[in-house]
Amino acid sequence: MAEIVIPEDLLPADGRFGCGPSKVRDAQLGFLDSIRGSVLGTSHRQAPVKDLVGSVRDGLSELFRAPEGYEILLANGGATTFWDSAVHSLIETRSQHLSFGEFGAKFGKAAAAAPFLQDPDVRTADAGSRATAEAVAGIDVYAYPQNETSTGVMAPVQRVHGDARALTVVDATSGAGGIDFDANEVDVYYFSPQKNFASDGGLWFALVSPAAIERIERVAASGRYIPEVLNLAGAIENSRKNQTLNTPALASVALMDEQVRWMNDNGGLAWASSRTAESSGVLYTWAERSAVATPFASRPEDRSQVVVTIDFDDSVDAGQISRVLRANGIVDTEPYRKLGRNQLRVATFTAIEPDDVRALTACIDHVLERII
Ligand SMILES: *Cc1c(COP(=O)(O)O)cnc(C)c1O
Repeated sequence: MAEIVIPEDLLPADGRFGCGPSKVRDAQLGFLDSIRGSVLGTSHRQAPVKDLVGSVRDGLSELFRAPEGYEILLANGGATTFWDSAVHSLIETRSQHLSFGEFGAKFGKAAAAAPFLQDPDVRTADAGSRATAEAVAGIDVYAYPQNETSTGVMAPVQRVHGDARALTVVDATSGAGGIDFDANEVDVYYFSPQKNFASDGGLWFALVSPAAIERIERVAASGRYIPEVLNLAGAIENSRKNQTLNTPALASVALMDEQVRWMNDNGGLAWASSRTAESSGVLYTWAERSAVATPFASRPEDRSQVVVTIDFDDSVDAGQISRVLRANGIVDTEPYRKLGRNQLRVATFTAIEPDDVRALTACIDHVLERII
């Protein structure tokens, strides 16, 4: 088949629709450039870098409307490392995990592998739907993703009212900064910065409650062996000094700082959330009107506002659509690699312009008219 060329006037201004690393705004790179001589390439133990880390921590507290006593932690390793940290230094005896996609499942597997914990209570739902938490005696951590990036299903941030000291621990990696929530409903809200925060990977950040801090300190004092890089007590100590145990990627911190400032200056989380809702709404409406496409999550309330997954019927090869889009500069619309569906997955993160999402639907229509 001849190459399909999408006319210039249909193309989005920015063709990056991936779920992470995701679109970085030019203003973030401008900020990076502005600190090239003063911060980049300087010691992370001195004021210029520590002030930058402090600015991100303050900005996140403002963005999340952090309740009294809540703190922002950060450390190296990304959300994947946070799972191992939580296994070693947050879960006391037994955890419950909601597994409705790749990421929720992985945390459950990490807990199951730990010889010093009881077998976790893992509640699984099929991809495209969502499992729900249930209070159970003896569970001390309830864990679930706010947004399952692998399937495009989101869950409300709600505290699980189990045993008095049980903690609610939410993987907010692709939700944070794109979905509004009430911080009082969660004890640990952790995430990597390369999704709605449009930064690079390699770090994790977390909003933690006083109850979570108390837990972390108690587990650290219990005598359990905890590798130093995974010890959240060390993350508390270092974060309070605007530092990390070992060297962080300064550029990631800087890109993050500019994105958090941009969100706060524009109206904070309510603004970010309305923007992602607008963008995802464009795609879901498009799919519902299409004769060949349907939103993957069948229940409208499960459909993510930050990661949109759209199934295509057998008359269309979704892989061909994403290949043509890629050849025209519109990238990363492929589905999650292990899901194996005839699907497109599109990030509608805060950095992505709603008008670019509208342009994307026009581009998909242009391709569909030529391949069906
Ligand atoms: C991307 C993602 C992760 C993994 O993040 P890393 O920075 O690669 O460790 C974990 N959970 C969710 C929900 C994600 O979207």
